[in-house]
Amino acid sequence: MKRIVLTGFRGTGKTEIGRILAAQHHVQFLDTDSLIEQQTGRSIPDIFHEDGEERFRTIERDVIAGLPAGDAVISTGGGAVVDPVNMANLRRDSTVILLIADLDTIEQRIARSPRPPLTNLPLQEEIAEMLDRRRQNYHASADLCMDTSGTTPSTAAVIINDRISRGVVTPSARKDALAFFRGGRLAAPALRRLEEILANPPADPLTRLLGVAGYPALHSRGPRLFNALFAEYGLNNHYTFFEDPEIAKILQLARSLDVKGLSVTIPFKQDVMALVDEVDEHAAQQIGAVNTVVFACGTATGYNTDWLGVRKPLVSLKGSKAVLLGAGGVASAAAFALVDLEMDVTVLNRTPEKAKELAARSGCRWAAWDTFDQIRPDLVVNATPLGMEPDTRSPLQEEQLYPDLTVFDLVYTPPVTPLIEMALAKGCTTITGTEMFIEQAKEQFWLFFGIDVPGETIRKYLS
Ligand code: NAP
Repeated sequence: MKRIVLTGFRGTGKTEIGRILAAQHHVQFLDTDSLIEQQTGRSIPDIFHEDGEERFRTIERDVIAGLPAGDAVISTGGGAVVDPVNMANLRRDSTVILLIADLDTIEQRIARSPRPPLTNLPLQEEIAEMLDRRRQNYHASADLCMDTSGTTPSTAAVIINDRISRGVVTPSARKDALAFFRGGRLAAPALRRLEEILANPPADPLTRLLGVAGYPALHSRGPRLFNALFAEYGLNNHYTFFEDPEIAKILQLARSLDVKGLSVTIPFKQDVMALVDEVDEHAAQQIGAVNTVVFACGTATGYNTDWLGVRKPLVSLKGSKAVLLGAGGVASAAAFALVDLEMDVTVLNRTPEKAKELAARSGCRWAAWDTFDQIRPDLVVNATPLGMEPDTRSPLQEEQLYPDLTVFDLVYTPPVTPLIEMALAKGCTTITGTEMFIEQAKEQFWLFFGIDVPGETIRKYLS
């Protein structure tokens, strides 16, 4: 048996259910809050009261890092999932079960708890606020999800054991999925791996799929990168290609297969928004595009990580004068990032109406394509496909470039595009599309698993 880790808010039943599961599997039960109290010789309310939450989280992180690697059922504190280091330690070679419960049930169960409040709000409001704040972290932590409202701990344990031994995907869903993948263009080794995962009975019922949803999708570097990361972090997941002209079909398949997450690419970033249950309000809704879908506890949530891929390499250029070339899907994410960095942005596009529309939507200016030389920006971002293999064109000519210009080409195939080559020759500062790819993939991995992968690790697997 793999180590079982229980995550979830207070009052979802982690301790009681954990004890029952441990007894049934004849392994030790460890509760991280109890371990903290044993190791410090103080109660958790005392640590919070005397040293504050930050100190508590440091102790918790050390306790989690020291947990045994196998033969145990582990119950974690409600806030442990927020820390990416905890998530890397808890997820390694483990099955993580997220326990959830409705608000009234949680309130009833914890009303008499001596634990200190985390906010100044009345209890039910505090629970709702904390659940909302940690929702994404809880979802990222889950290999399996179990709603404990209206169940006894022993019934919950029976259901969990059944899910661990048989998984949650029905034989008919596995059969349909196999037909989907066999009817596609997957190479033989990729198909063989899926045949093992989707067999009846499957090689391991808990191996959860992820993938890139696109049409076409087979050019994606996602499977190579993510599968290498799964091996590195000890995750029981497999990442594949979901290639089909209909995104609705891919979403339906993903739901029936209990897929953990999808990276969404051309041409589905807009259409997928109508097919998920929720769209992240902060960025995806404003950008008008979703490139990441996370499935957890029956809900599909759409996010956009492209904008962070553009933003992170440009942090030091905050407040600059920028020109954005293009007004398509990626340009929309780039405009959001540049405005977020308080830049003075002008959008130039082949079709001026689209530049005007993007500018109005994102708080930028727009202008005709041939006004680039008059603007003389500090930064130019290429969000058109010009220069993407096999195209060898550049959106700008060499004489339009100057040494104090920063050139960020979002095209990443080839790694050094004609525009980047010219910019280097002119002494410009250059940023390649690979940097965007790394940052957006890093963010995606965090949304999927709650783990913060160093950019250098991603770079290693891309090269
Ligand atoms: P898109 O929605 O199809 O938009 C393409 C944009 O480029 C449109 O504004 C289009 O102008 C313009 N364009 C197309 N062909 C052109 C040409 N021959 N001359 C001038 N402008 C042209 O595509 P997208 O999803 O935004 O992707 C754009 C590029 O971003 C991709 O090709 C890819 O290389 C890159 N990308 C990079 C990453 C990364 O991680 N680095 C991720 C995703 C995408 P019109 O409005 O006139 O059609």
